[in-house]
Amino acid sequence: MSPIPGSGLAKGLAVTLRTMTKKTVTAQYPDVQPELPPRSRGVIGLFEENCTVCMLCARECPDWCIYIDSHKETVPAAVPGGRERSRNVLDRFAIDFSLCMYCGICIEVCPFDALFWSPEFEYAETDIRELTHERDKLREWMWTVPAPPALDPGAEEPKEIGAARKTAEKLAAAEADASTPPGVGTPPGVGGVPPGAAERPADESGPASGQGGPA
Ligand code: SF4
Ligand code: SF4
Repeated sequence: MSPIPGSGLAKGLAVTLRTMTKKTVTAQYPDVQPELPPRSRGVIGLFEENCTVCMLCARECPDWCIYIDSHKETVPAAVPGGRERSRNVLDRFAIDFSLCMYCGICIEVCPFDALFWSPEFEYAETDIRELTHERDKLREWMWTVPAPPALDPGAEEPKEIGAARKTAEKLAAAEADASTPPGVGTPPGVGGVPPGAAERPADESGPASGQGGPA
């Protein structure tokens, strides 16, 4: 059966009328920035202070597009008689984003939390060679990395936060002790000094327990 003449035009007009009344979803980029999900894979940021130059990311990258150069430095002993230590110092860290396939393996394998996804995506270049970005640029992108999502209410406290909290509590306790005048707030017998021990003459005190005395 042959189609009715003009039915195609009527169908087309019907589609036009239907879509004309719907709310538009077109984003007016670049006048309006898109609202990207926090886990968007835009670009990789480097938090240089955490990088120990272990080379794991460069070794695991399937595209071999991470370039790292480093040298060794000797750190003097922290205490007299201690041992010198040697550490890696980062000279170059670059990623070639013309090769990167945004798999995220480098970020997953980094044992020291030095690599992060940033939702930043405006780094297109007209020359492919300019898509190799060095550590300064990777560091700038670090500041566009969104904060991690809050933990679940019943979740275990992260080890790093627990350690930092304990250190802060110890420091606060030490400061409080230092600012308390001697004798204030210390009940008699606390701190291993028995009451009256200070007033007792030395010759009456006798040998301490377990230290032996004259036969
Ligand atoms: S995201 Fe994947 S391809 Fe890109 S640098 Fe990391 S490991 Fe390599
Ligand atoms: S895996 Fe992490 S710590 Fe090791 S070299 Fe790469 S960024 Fe640095």
